[in-house]
Formats: sequence, structure tokens, C-alpha cells
Amino acid sequence: MNTVITSTLLGFAVGIIGTGAGGIAAFMLKRPSRRFMGTVLGLAGGLMIAVVCFELLPEAFEMAGLTTGIAGIILGVALVTIIDLLVPDRDFTQRSFRDWGYIRAGIILGLGIAVHNFPEGLAIGSGLAADLRLGLSLALAIGFHNMPEGLAMAMPMMIGGYSKVRVLLATIIAGVPMGFGAFVGMLLGEISPQLVSLCLSFAGGTMLYITCGELIPKSQNVYRGRASAFGIILGIIAGIALSAL
Ligand SMILES: [Zn+2]
Repeated sequence: MNTVITSTLLGFAVGIIGTGAGGIAAFMLKRPSRRFMGTVLGLAGGLMIAVVCFELLPEAFEMAGLTTGIAGIILGVALVTIIDLLVPDRDFTQRSFRDWGYIRAGIILGLGIAVHNFPEGLAIGSGLAADLRLGLSLALAIGFHNMPEGLAMAMPMMIGGYSKVRVLLATIIAGVPMGFGAFVGMLLGEISPQLVSLCLSFAGGTMLYITCGELIPKSQNVYRGRASAFGIILGIIAGIALSAL
């Protein structure tokens, strides 16, 4: 039981501190350029790809074999695809934030982040169940990756005239589902190694989809230049370095 509580608390902390820190960064940066935002979103995407491919999935494959691992990835991708189909087009980066209304853009972005924070929490919880070192390095990578996400949702809210307190509150709320994910991940993880492997690869699949389908395309839509590509590459290198620790 103790491990479940620890995992849940870690999930809440990583989620709330990560996106919350992004919200605080928004106060300090005021109005960052599109180039900066594109780079930072690319960084969040690259970091995720490296952590999923070099840390999370190899562990899942090692625990229960390739078949279970790939089944988990497919399940994860299928679930986010369904969610994506149910939620109407959220890609406001094609047009400007102004066309959408800044606050609305921020809220929709925040909702997307809140929803995908659950499987990321699941990765932390099942990672901890598999191996303490894996869980902690996943928590660290996901925490870093949450900051640009918090920044991305806070920026339009700030520009739209939301008060600092409301912006901070919104970023904190978006981080909360991560705690629930970590709770479920550890709970399932205590049942069997097969289930840990399935949870890890499931979370890995959803994270790959979010990265390939949202973070990277968004980084390119926000800024059509080399900076966002460099951001992605820098994120991948940082993720590999983190996995090697
Ligand atoms: Zn995320």
C-alpha cells in the first residue's frame, strides 16, 4: 500500500510542479516569440521520443516480450486515436490564437494536456512498479517535458487577459490527472510483471502518438524554421542522456 501512496504522490508532484512551473515561466517571459515557442514544443516532443524509445519500451519488452509490448503500444495508440476523433479539431496553430480567442485556445490546449497527463502518470506508476530507477527517470523526463506544455497553455491565457492566479491555477489543474495515472499504474503494477509491461507499452504508445501527432506538428506550425527542428533534436539528445544516467 505504501508504494501506491508514494507513486501517487510522485505523480501529483511531477504533474503539478511540471505544468505549474511552465505557468510561472509564462509570467516571466511575457510574450515569447513564435520561434521560441516552436523550439520549446519541439524540445518537449524530442525528450518524449527518446525516453519512450530508449527507456520505457525496452523495459516493457524485456519484462514480457515483444508481443505483449507491441500489443500495448497498439492499444495505447488506438485509445488516443479514439479520443482524438471524439474531440473536435483542436489545431488552432494553423490560424492565429486571435482567431480562436486566446482564452479559448489556452483552455482547449490545457484540456488536451490534462487528458494526456493520465497515461504519462500511468508510465510513472508502472515504471516505479517495474524498477525504482526506471520510475524515477521517467518521472524526471516527464516533469521536464511538462514545463513547455504548461508554458504553451499559459501563454494564450495570459495574452487573453487571464489573471496570474487563474493561469497558475489552470496549469496546476492540468497536472492533476498525472497523480491518478501514477496511482492506477502502481496498483496494476503490483498485480503482475505482464501487467506492468502492458501498462508501460500502453503509456508508451499514447506518448508516441501525442508526440508525433501533436507536439511535433504544433512545433512546426508555430514556427516554420529550423529552430523547431533543432529543438526536437536537442530534446532527443537530452532524453538519451537522461536514460543513460
Ligand atoms: Zn505531456
